Parts: sequence; structure tokens; C-alpha cells
Amino acid sequence: MAAVPSIERAAHGVTSSAVLDFLKRPKNLLIGGKWVPAKSGKQFETINPANEEVLALVPEGDKADVDEAVKIARQAYEEGPWSRIGPHQRARYLLKIADLLEQHADELAILETLNNGMAISLARGMASGAADTFRYYAGWATKIYGETNPSDPSMFNYTLREPVGVCGQIIPWNGPIAMLAWKIAPALACGNVSILKPAEQTPLTALRIGELLQEVDLPPGVVNIITGFGETAGAAIAAHPDIDKVAFTGSTEVGKLILQASTGNLKRVSLELGGKSPNVIFPDADLENAIPTSLFGFCMLSGQVCCAGTRVFVQSDFHDRFVEHLTRYASNVKAGDPLDASTTVGPLVSREQFNRVKGYLDIGKKEGAKPALGGEARTGKGFFVDPTIFTDVRNNMQIAREEIFGPVASVIPFKDENDAVLQGNDTTYGLAAAVWTQDISRAHRIARALKAGTVWINCYNNIDPISPFGGYKQSGIGRELGKHSIELYTQIKSVYAKL
Ligand code: NAP
Ligand code: MG
Repeated sequence: MAAVPSIERAAHGVTSSAVLDFLKRPKNLLIGGKWVPAKSGKQFETINPANEEVLALVPEGDKADVDEAVKIARQAYEEGPWSRIGPHQRARYLLKIADLLEQHADELAILETLNNGMAISLARGMASGAADTFRYYAGWATKIYGETNPSDPSMFNYTLREPVGVCGQIIPWNGPIAMLAWKIAPALACGNVSILKPAEQTPLTALRIGELLQEVDLPPGVVNIITGFGETAGAAIAAHPDIDKVAFTGSTEVGKLILQASTGNLKRVSLELGGKSPNVIFPDADLENAIPTSLFGFCMLSGQVCCAGTRVFVQSDFHDRFVEHLTRYASNVKAGDPLDASTTVGPLVSREQFNRVKGYLDIGKKEGAKPALGGEARTGKGFFVDPTIFTDVRNNMQIAREEIFGPVASVIPFKDENDAVLQGNDTTYGLAAAVWTQDISRAHRIARALKAGTVWINCYNNIDPISPFGGYKQSGIGRELGKHSIELYTQIKSVYAKL
């Protein structure tokens, strides 16, 4: 039975009237430019993970709502005004969306922090980053070219780069505003239409952005937002016979289900999945940067980041000194109220995630790992786990192989450069990696040798829409961002003309 939310309790400390007004408004699905309840009439609660209070009731969309959204999106794509507008107009829409995201960045950041628990400073960065992503893809809308090919004199052959069509876009709870931008911006830039499903834990910013999209007068049906559960709404998108492409960000486990479900109509699939990224530290690393940045590498968003640097490899003779520095620095990091501007580590997103991380803390200790810092979850309200640094970890332990998705790092010694690469690559994942050294040749050798979609040299977690993001191995299929999203959201037609 859904509880009537007490917004004052759930959004305690928030004074933004824009946020409070939004929380009070009834929530609906965005289908065909209209806000409508789920056909089933069902709703579910969404909570604030810092205090476990209910923030809002959200419609539980399912297959029937997805079917309706696909019908309308298909019409918008084939017959609606969207099918006739040119690239300049698409660019203008994206620029207007970027401006609105920027104007509402504070409000969106507060809402994101309330619903996800991420530190407000990070939420602000993600909101303004989302505006950058829309602006970046606004630029692409007018730069999507085909080619003329060197055909026989009796023929004229050229290629057109055309949109894919109706795109299902399923996003996770860990960076909702950013993930929405990575999906919707390139899809629209290329002339597609979108049906977006936010994660069950964090539906609010997508719904608020849906309201902002209405303000730019996008033609109805171009962006549809279905809140609901993965097993129902998500699965209906993945299997839908009239969806042309599905873009998914989430766990490797669900990514495999999406791929299986796509075979019915052989829809195009792109997957951004999990990771267990190596962060390799040599004794000549600039510690002033390496310590805080490595901590950020596994504590940003309370470690609930696909590219988190959770396996920290340190050269053996430097290991103890590094651990001492990292532990000292980490013990001063502020964990707590995510709305406080000085907080670095907020709560985990949900009770489920809290229990999962707690479970891994126990597993680590049972496997013989020693917590140099942390190692316990907090008791009381909110899903807080303090930063944890495990030493005495071997790369074959469960805590070093599986994605924990909490602020937990395993420090693992290595002998030399080869050993660092061998251990770093000994994982089923390949999303990201980092290396810290002043030796420029070694840095680039290691960047080449590590099997990962992104490698950072003397930095961590830098992501910019100009550059592709995605995984090697079981971390995904395809690349988002940069020109690579244009490839994901277009298809090529070859035209032969007899002269
Ligand atoms: P998840 O459980 O895989 O869920 C992701 C999305 O898929 C949610 O919207 C979820 O809906 C939906 N979903 C669940 N089951 C589904 C099904 N059977 N069919 C279709 N959709 C389904 O992942 P998560 O726990 O939300 O997010 C954490 C994971 O995402 C981590 O593994 C992380 O590494 C990964 N991630 C990867 C990237 C990247 O770019 N590579 C970025 C961020 C996160 P519900 O919310 O209703 O379950
Ligand atoms: Mg889930």
C-alpha cells in the first residue's frame, strides 16, 4: 500500500519552491506530449535514501503504456511534424533544451540529490554537464554527412546517413540526469524519437526534465517518458517488435537479457554495462594528486559508478606508504548529508544496494582482506556506508572480481609493469582504467596495454561529451558520446542511380 508522501519530512532542509512544488504535483507518464496516468492506475513510492522518507508517488508504467508510447512515437517519426523538420530546427531544439537545463540546474541538482543521494556538488556538475551534452549534439545535427562514392561513369552512387527510428532508452539510477542526456541528445540530433525509461529508484529528474521539454514545444511523441519497473516496462521496451533500437545503461546481467530480448525483431542494441576498473599507481606518482583523485575514483557517488576505480594496484615497495596516505586522507572526507555542499560521500541509493554493499564487506573480511579504513555500514536512518579501504586483497578474491557499487576499494600490490598490466586486465570487465606515473613512456605503454574503453593518465573519472565512452569485454557493446553516438543513432543507405 503506497503511503501518502510527507514532503516536508522527505525533503527536509530544502527551501527551493521549484523543487517543493514539483514534488507536490501529481506524477504522470509523458506519452505523445501529454501527461497521462499508467493504464493500470498503479503507482509506486520513490524515496529519499538519506532519510528513507517517501518523496513522491510515481506511475507504474508497464507493457500497455509502452505499447501506446511506441504507437505514438512511430506516428511522430513517420508522419508527424518531426519527420519534416530539418537539421537546423533540430539543433535549435537541442540548444533550447540545453539552456533550460542550465537555467534549472540548481533545482534539478537538488531533486537528483533528494532522490539518488549523490552529493549536491556532484549533482550540480551532472546537471550542467547534461546541458553541455545537449549543446554538443546540437552542433552535430547539422554535420551528419553521407558520401559520394567513386562509381562507374554510367552510375552515380551516394550514401545517406538516416535516423534509426523509434529508440527505446533504458537508464540506471546512478547518474540519471547525465544518462538521460547521453541518450536523448544524440537520438534527437540524428532525427530519431525516444521512449525513455528511468530506473525505478530515481524517476524524478527525468519527469521534471519531461516538463522542461514541454516548454520547448517539441512535437508530441518525440520524447516519451515511462516510469516503471525493469521486469515489466523495461522488458517491454527491449522486446517490442516496433522499436528499432534499444540503448541500455545498467548492469551486465540485465544487459545480457536486453540482448536476448532484442532478437525478436533484431533491433540494434548498444550497451553500457558494469566495471571493475584498475587504478595503477607507481611509486613516482604525484601523490598530491594521486591520493585525492584515487579516493574520488572509488568514492564518487558513494562508489556507485560504473567506471569506479575499485581495484587500486600499487607497486609492492610503495604499498604501505600509499595505504597510509590514502587512509589518512580518506578518514577526513566528509560523509553524510548529501545536501550539504561540503559533503563528498552521501548515502547509497536504496536499501537493496545498502544490503549488497554490506554483504560484500562481510565477504571481504571472510576472504581475509583487512579494512585499513571503514569496513562497516552505519546504523540508523539512511543508507550510509563510510569509505572502506581493504588491504591484503588478492585479485582473485570475490571483492576484487565483482562489482560492489559502494565506496569500497581493494588495494592490491604488483611487482612490476608487466604484473600491473596482467592483474589489471585479469577481469571480465573492461570499462575504464587509470595509471599514475611521471614516466611519460610508461604511462602511454600502460594506456595501450590495459583492455578498457577509457584510460586516464594521472587523473580519474574525467568524462566529456567530445570523447567516446563504453566498454571492452563484458562492459558493453558500442560507444556513446563523441561522434560515436551519431553512429549508434543513424543508419546508412547506399543509393545507385543509372545515368
Ligand atoms: P540494472 O538493474 O541493470 O538497471 C538498469 C535499468 O534497466 C533500470 O532502468 C532497470 O529498471 C532496467 N531493467 C532491469 N531489468 C530489466 C529487464 N529485464 N529488461 C529491461 N530493463 C530492465 O542496473 P542498476 O542497478 O540500475 O545500475 C547499476 C549498474 O549499471 C551497474 O552495474 C553499473 O556498472 C551500470 N552502469 C553502467 C554505466 C556505463 O556507462 N557503462 C553507467 C552507469 C551504470 P529498474 O530500475 O526498474 O530495475
Ligand atoms: Mg533494478
